[in-house]
Order: sequence, then C-alpha cells, then structure tokens
Amino acid sequence: MTSVLWLRRDLRLRDHPALHAAAKDGPVVALFVLDPALLKPAGAPRVAFLYRTLRALDADLRSRGGRLIVRRGDPVNAVPGVVRESGADAVHVSADFGPYGRARDEAVATALGDVPLVRTGSPYAVAPGRVTKSDGKPFTVYTPFYRAWMSHEWRAPALAITGRVDWRTDLASVDIPADPALPAGLTLPDAGEDAALKTWKAYRTRDLASYPESRDRPDLDRTSRMSVYLKWGCIHPRTMLHDLGPGDDTFRQEIAWREFYAAVLYAWPASAREYFQPQLAAMDYARPTSTAFTAWREGRTGYPIVDAGMRQLLGEGWMHNRLRMIVASFLVKDLHIEWQHGARHFMRHLVDGDLASNQHGWQWTAGTGTDPAPYYRVFNPVLQGQKFDPDGTYVRRWVPELRAVEGKAVHEPWALADPPADYPERIVDHAVERQEALARYQAAK
Ligand SMILES: Cc1cc2nc3c(=O)[nH]c(=O)nc-3n(C[C@H](O)[C@H](O)[C@H](O)COP(=O)(O)OP(=O)(O)OC[C@H]3O[C@@H](n4cnc5c(N)ncnc54)[C@H](O)[C@@H]3O)c2cc1C
Repeated sequence: MTSVLWLRRDLRLRDHPALHAAAKDGPVVALFVLDPALLKPAGAPRVAFLYRTLRALDADLRSRGGRLIVRRGDPVNAVPGVVRESGADAVHVSADFGPYGRARDEAVATALGDVPLVRTGSPYAVAPGRVTKSDGKPFTVYTPFYRAWMSHEWRAPALAITGRVDWRTDLASVDIPADPALPAGLTLPDAGEDAALKTWKAYRTRDLASYPESRDRPDLDRTSRMSVYLKWGCIHPRTMLHDLGPGDDTFRQEIAWREFYAAVLYAWPASAREYFQPQLAAMDYARPTSTAFTAWREGRTGYPIVDAGMRQLLGEGWMHNRLRMIVASFLVKDLHIEWQHGARHFMRHLVDGDLASNQHGWQWTAGTGTDPAPYYRVFNPVLQGQKFDPDGTYVRRWVPELRAVEGKAVHEPWALADPPADYPERIVDHAVERQEALARYQAAK
C-alpha cells in the first residue's frame, strides 16, 4: 500500500507521528504543495526560509534514498493529483488546527473521495481542543490552562525510523524555487531539521539555565530562537519538552503559551481578526495611512528602543519578545493605531510568523485579548529601554546613528547636550499620548 505523506508545518523526519503512520503501510511519497494562498501573505524572509527548509528536507530524504515531491497550486487539486499518479491508498498528515488549514483539509478530504485523509499528531504537544475546563469549555485565561496542560499527558518523542522508510521517488516534481529577493543585509538562521536540532542542543548546553533571568534582556540575546523552527515543524515541541528538567519551568511555560494561543484560535477562529474583548473595537483609532505608521514600520519614531526593535525585525525577520511587546504597545497606545495593522506588518516580516501566537500576542499587548495586559498599563518606551537594555547595547546594535552615545543615555537622545543630527526627533510625546490613550479607553469602556 502506497501512502502520500503530505507535509505542511512538519518539515522534519524525526519524531514525526504522521510519518510513522504512513510508513507502516508500505512505500511513502513525501509531498509538499506550494500553496499560493499561504505564500501570498508571507514576506520574502519567511518564504526564503521555507524554501531553504524544503531544500534541507529534500537533501535529508535523498541521503536516505528518497526525494521530496513538490507541486504548485491549490492542494484541493494537487493532493488528489498525486494520489492518482501514485495509486496511493491514503494521505497522511499532521493535523492543522488553524482556520485556513482546517477548511483546506476538509476540502481536500472531500476531494479525495474514498481515499482517507489520516491525521496523526499535530504541531503541538497537546492538540488544541484537548485541554478544557471541567465543563468541557475552552480556557480563556492562561494560568489555569497551563495547570491543566501540565496535568495532561503528552507522548514521548517518536523513535527515529527514517532509515527504514521505503520512499517513492518516481513522481514528477517541480523544482523548489530559488529564494525571493531579500532585503539587503538581512541575515536568516540556518534552515532545516539538522539546524533546528543543533540550535536546540547548543541552547540547552549554553543558555537554558539562565533563561529565567535573561529572557527579558534583548541586549544579552539569550532566548532560544527556536520559534522559526517550531513554525515550520523542523522540530516537534515534544522533543524540546522531553529535554527540559524540573528546573526549566519558565521555558516550559513559554512553550505552553504557544499551545494556549493555538487552543484559543481553535476555539475562536475569529480572534485572528476581531477583538477578543469586543468593547475595545469601538475605540477611536487613528488611520493606518499616517506618516507615523510609516515611521513605526521603518524604525524612525525617535524612540530608540522602539526603532531598534523595528529595525531588528527588518534586519533578521525576528524580534526579541520584550521588543515585540514594546513596539506593539507603542503602535496601539502611543500612535492609536489598531492592533490588526501591526499584526499584519509582523506577519509579513517575521520568519516565525504564526497566526495564533502573533494575533494573540498583539491582542494581549493591545489590552484586547484573552489575558490582556490591563489597558491602562501603558509601556513607557524610555523606562522599558532603561530597564531591559540597561547599558543601551541593544539600541546601539540596531541604530547606528546612536552608536557614539554611551551607556543608557542612548534611550533619551533628546536629552543630550548635542543630539545626533541624523537620528529622527520623536514623532510623538509619550506622556501626552499616554493620557490620550487613557481618555479614549475611558470613552470606549
Ligand atoms: C506582539 C507579539 C507578536 C508575536 N508574534 C509571534 C509569532 O508570530 N510567532 C511566534 O512564534 N511567536 C510570536 N510571539 C511570541 C514570542 O515573542 C516569540 O515566540 C519569541 O520571541 C520567539 O523567540 P524565541 O524562540 O527565542 O523564544 P524563547 O523565549 O526561547 O521561547 C521558547 C519558545 O516558546 C514559545 N513562546 C515564547 N514566548 C511566547 C509567547 N509570548 N507567546 C507564544 N509562544 C511563545 C515560542 O515557541 C518560543 O520559540 C509574539 C509576541 C508578541 C508580544
């Protein structure tokens, strides 16, 4: 019995339950479909990283006597096409729980007719929808979710069986496209499963122990940077959880945030676009066409910590979590622009862009999400900079105009006797906009 293993967000060969399920029946066709609906909203960095991941996967398969079969187009046509050509009896996938993926998989299952679409495993330790309150309803608050998630079992990593798979290589494939043109100076991490495992091993050895103290410090750069690999399933979170010890609770909690937001999106798919706290939808917001929005996107707001974060996003396709919160708060509460516009910009530029974590991270910061940061707690960009980048190292790394300014004075260039002429002036006064945000909030409540 031939099976098609249709790969999507599970671009790896180890710890892969759907691969196990497919391989036990006989030969396997490893398929990836370049779906224009998913490629369109992703910017060049994420697309390039995906193509590199596919190339790494193809090389891994070839070293095991296999090959990645790549097709382009709507999966509703492409997947049944490969089934017909290969005479496959089943299509195996890791289940997708996002709104687009669920609808797509339903449509593909229908198009497959009698050939079953078999879902085994998911990109999560515990599949969204499995951890619920005692009345069976989904959690809307993280902490009780975390407790219930911790008491829920998850499977141990699946053993490596890739050496024993009988891969089918006799089907036509389009080439994996060349990388799209990337912004000058952009640096992307190495792609693929080996890179993911190597990064994770190095992180565990070097920095994991100091995660609780250093995770909020962008200057130290001591978070794992595993989000890009989790995004594409180059590693399964279960593999990572398996490696954590009893003292690694803080890191485990962050993995659980990813699982929580996936569960929230599964229960409320509309929360990808709409306010989880609907009363704030009525607030008075600014139009996203303003020059202020452009300055924010380009990292030219005149607030060094905000600009450093936005420039890191453009320079690496990644941003430190503390910065994601600072720049998101600045957009919503200092510039009064709705979170959806910022979320869309992030999704275009982030290599780890993930609908569940991104949209809900934005809603959290905007004060409109599941466990919102209280709206009235407005991040002060100067204090945030001084606290989390105490010597200004992070700002100087990303804002060359300020490299000559020493120490934490870099967070308030306007207070310098001789401010650098080529660094922009503040586009707004934070103290004024904070009051304005609170007034708008009171009016909307
Ligand atoms: C406005 C905003 C937008 C965000 N957009 C995304 C996104 O598109 N994709 C994405 O993966 N994460 C997103 N996050 C969450 C978080 O910022 C990133 O997961 C983290 O910065 C990735 O870096 P890391 O792998 O070094 O994280 P680490 O600190 O090493 O954490 C380990 C892993 O835990 C998970 N994690 C950590 N923090 C969070 C969190 N707050 N929410 C959900 N999962 C978390 C990630 O999978 C991460 O790889 C967003 C957060 C905010 C505030």
